[in-house]
Amino acid sequence: MLPEHGSVVIKGGRVVDPTGERDADVVVANGSVVEVGTNLKADTVLDASGCIVSPGLVDLHVHLREPGDEDAETIETGARAAALGGFTAVIAMPNTRPPHDEPSVVASVLASGARSLCDVHAAGCVTEQRAGEALAPLGELHTLGVRMFTDDGACVSDAGVMRRALEYARSLPDAVIAQHAEDPALADGGHMHEGAWSSRLGIAGRPGIAESTVVARDCELAEATGGRVHFLHLSTAAAVDIVREAKARGIAVTAEAAPHHFTLTDAECATFDPVYKVHPPLRSDADVAAVKAGLADGTIDAIATDHAPYASEQKERPFEEAPPGMLGLETALALTITELTIPGVLSLADALALLSWRPAAVAGLAEHGRPIAAGEPANLCVFDPALKWEVDAHRLASKARNTPYAGRSLTGRTRHTVLRGRPVVVDGEACA
Ligand SMILES: [Zn+2]
Repeated sequence: MLPEHGSVVIKGGRVVDPTGERDADVVVANGSVVEVGTNLKADTVLDASGCIVSPGLVDLHVHLREPGDEDAETIETGARAAALGGFTAVIAMPNTRPPHDEPSVVASVLASGARSLCDVHAAGCVTEQRAGEALAPLGELHTLGVRMFTDDGACVSDAGVMRRALEYARSLPDAVIAQHAEDPALADGGHMHEGAWSSRLGIAGRPGIAESTVVARDCELAEATGGRVHFLHLSTAAAVDIVREAKARGIAVTAEAAPHHFTLTDAECATFDPVYKVHPPLRSDADVAAVKAGLADGTIDAIATDHAPYASEQKERPFEEAPPGMLGLETALALTITELTIPGVLSLADALALLSWRPAAVAGLAEHGRPIAAGEPANLCVFDPALKWEVDAHRLASKARNTPYAGRSLTGRTRHTVLRGRPVVVDGEACA
């Protein structure tokens, strides 16, 4: 274990941040960056030769399962997985048991998060019990630091409720309503993308229009109310087009995409392996291409994992009975490098924008995604962009094993993670 309060120099890396790129050593102490330059010294050296030094990654969308499902994940294990993935901040989704619809639950999540290896922020529910009817106490949750409100896992499907939520959120500084855009009237009862594969496999489908109709409606509601909408896990070509047009019209919308929606298609479901079941579902080749194009042209603001751990006995059931969701925290950076950066879809700097500073801006996280310069908070990710490794589900820090990438060879891996000046991952190992 490294001393908590000594100075640390990250030596010999290439710094990539919102201001550009340069080769430099970075010294951190007492929670902040104190110097960026050449031939710097400190009490402890973290070797970064061959590595990129970037602001810590920011994940807008994780399920940490505490309270209620601690056999699948806890805040501690989820935060450790995040730190190993290069993340210094995550937003915990509110569909816990009980959900984040009252201040005491949020306060307890934040207290556990404060003791973990990653900054854990809590999203609050939009509606009581995520039932889609009465609004949750958004103002009270906002005073605890909640900035993102969502019923994720469920869609706010009632347009009147969504309108009232946006009107309320407009009065709360930096608040954003994050929508799981799948109209239950179209998607409920479906287990995979509705298309040629679902017909062939005889599995009931969730159509792409379940997403795009809600996205279109909510862009209109954002325009009408002046409230901000963030679209979670965008997965269809039609929805990407709608968000692109809405942004061109100046409407206050942002969007994220999950790694599984730019790396996997509905063809995977032919295995009937429930590890490929997720909501919204894995889509067609054309949808995957559109999500990549949306990431490349700035329509999509963030790569967010939708990390959704399950205990094996819950997930390993027949496809139609298994719950939706897959792990993401420990593979997101490598999937981005392997599937987007190396093939030339995105530059490394643009990929880091999607993984760090743009999501930090969406969520109003002032301590993350900052330039690496003296006086800035020392939340940093140091990764080797060329290191090849194979995903071994049994060696993940997450308590769960439901990764669809087991056995896949990926390129790029976190070497060190620094949280508030303290190394929490050193040479690929978590420090506590
Ligand atoms: Zn969701």
